Amino acid sequence: MTASGPRLLLGAPIATEMRARLKVEMAAFRRRHGFTPTLAVVFVGRDAPSAVYLQQILRSCRNAGAVGRLVHLPAGETAAHLRREIELLNADPLVSGIIVQMPLPKRIPLSVVIDAIDPAKDIDGLHPRNFGLLALGYEGFLPATAQAAVEILKRSGIALEGRHAVVVGRSNVVGKPAALLLLREHCTVTVCHSRTVDLGAHTRAADIVVVAAGRPGLITGTMLKPGAVVVDVGINMVAEGIVGDVDMASASAVVSAISPVPGGVGPITNAILLQHLLRAARDQVEGPPDRRLRRAPTRHPAGSTT
Ligand code: NAP
Repeated sequence: MTASGPRLLLGAPIATEMRARLKVEMAAFRRRHGFTPTLAVVFVGRDAPSAVYLQQILRSCRNAGAVGRLVHLPAGETAAHLRREIELLNADPLVSGIIVQMPLPKRIPLSVVIDAIDPAKDIDGLHPRNFGLLALGYEGFLPATAQAAVEILKRSGIALEGRHAVVVGRSNVVGKPAALLLLREHCTVTVCHSRTVDLGAHTRAADIVVVAAGRPGLITGTMLKPGAVVVDVGINMVAEGIVGDVDMASASAVVSAISPVPGGVGPITNAILLQHLLRAARDQVEGPPDRRLRRAPTRHPAGSTT
């Protein structure tokens, strides 16, 4: 921390750079293959924060030169109908990538999406094939938010190797994949969740804290080590607007760097999803460059076999 507060890890400059590159690559794809990749965004229900997010992702598609197709199903939709919609999108040659907006209505289990989605179009890394590739250190589609949480650290020049990272949250879409990605970067990783005893004792021991719990104000300054780096993934609607999971005021007095909400991880997530869309489109048209499983790029110490 400096006298003026901690360094803010801002997503916008990183996302702007990613989007500029993406726009050029998307245009090259269009010239080469004569069509524009489409991202199908499936949305069930009427959740207001989701509606805001949907407009952002559709705008991101337009800006990148891709097509965003909203597939809006009414709140009372059945799991069987959702599965059928996903299967139609799997079979549509114009659709290169599919995401399903969370949260789903409580009646519809996430397993419906996971079972139905074609792993080749699963650009948010939900399918067991993609998750398994991540766990084994191969290149599948990574869950975009988890990737964004690690990307903001890497692109901000935060050293990861050998450092103790604590991830708060163990969901399959954010916490668990973020922990696996930090492990890939050679962090020593602890994963905490709602049954963790004395959460503060864990977070206070961490050099890096990634919080994805969906609980506003969960992490306060007294739970953080002086000089720690914090990535706040949480998005919570409160009376004052959108806030993360970290109490910014108390944390700012302690940490050396922190990603704000909004303005941290969020913008990078969208840019990553569009990168995945382009990669899916390429793989579907050209085939993956190497049909064998590709190892994810990482630096392993000499002699390591992991
Ligand atoms: P989720 O499925 O509800 O998972 C929340 C996780 O936090 C669970 O593992 C839960 O533990 C844990 N948790 C809840 N309360 C806790 C507590 N008091 N102490 C410790 N751990 C606790 O949520 P998610 O989908 O992972 O999303 C997490 C947050 O990230 C949400 O705010 C969401 O809106 C946000 N998000 C942001 C982006 C972005 O682009 N920035 C994208 C997606 C999600 P248990 O497993 O024990 O229940």
